[in-house]
Amino acid sequence: MDLQDPRIRAMLRQANKVADSGKRAAATQLYRQLLDEAPDLAEAWFGLGQVINDAAEQKEAYKKAVSLKPDFAPAVRALAELRGESVPEWAVEPEPEAEVTEPEPEPMPTEHEHTAVAPEDEEAFELACYRHPNRPTSLRCYNCDKPICSSCAIKTPVGYSCPDCIREKEEIFFNATTLDYVVAPAIGLVLSLIAGYLVARLGLRGGFFTYFIMIFAGGLVGRLIGRFSKQAIGRRRGRYLPHIMVGMLVLGTIIWLLPIILLAGFSSLFVLISPGIFLFVAGGALFSYMK
Ligand SMILES: [Zn+2]
Ligand SMILES: [Zn+2]
Repeated sequence: MDLQDPRIRAMLRQANKVADSGKRAAATQLYRQLLDEAPDLAEAWFGLGQVINDAAEQKEAYKKAVSLKPDFAPAVRALAELRGESVPEWAVEPEPEAEVTEPEPEPMPTEHEHTAVAPEDEEAFELACYRHPNRPTSLRCYNCDKPICSSCAIKTPVGYSCPDCIREKEEIFFNATTLDYVVAPAIGLVLSLIAGYLVARLGLRGGFFTYFIMIFAGGLVGRLIGRFSKQAIGRRRGRYLPHIMVGMLVLGTIIWLLPIILLAGFSSLFVLISPGIFLFVAGGALFSYMK
């Protein structure tokens, strides 16, 4: 399979587009999928080399591109630069990037061609959703090309996607390690205990001014906790991390309020309005920061 194949060409175009938009992880995945189908496609190896994070793999990808297509100047250049070698003279001139060229414009249909049905139209009636075999459809996942019915299709900025590909993308998106799930909540709990202590000491008097301070302090504290803990875990994301962090915040605050709740009885629970406002604002800020 090579660039003569319109599907391969479309996949390469898609991968290049995602790479151009700076989504390296998604582009890496797309190039890999493409290479599964077209392992001899120098352009795909070159593309993979441009987006992949691992230096050794990057070198391998460029090497592969050059070995498949020795006159592929951008790949030759990239490999030479990576090795710290001088770029061969013929490849020095920055040639335009190897564009995926559109097929030659189709000649205008002549008389005898009018009845011809485009392959896609023909196919439309044969496709059925891969999750609902009894639902005919003409939609396909932009990523894996599987046919999907309209209720399975999920609209994304680049086209309709099947649920499987969305889930895969999310796995890339959520990259927190097990350790991150320990480190971030630990930091969150310590900071929440400090903030909660201050709130319990200073915020219980109530009154308009205190409520105003609580709103202000809540937003600040939520963002600060998010910022510190996120930095500590290399800004990685976890699917459940925002929820856990808010749990820590609630825990770190409630602990100081327990004696008050237990001693004061229900009659004077109005003192909890301030901590309530604080938790609401700080929790919201923290949650959205961790997302
Ligand atoms: Zn379906
Ligand atoms: Zn898909």
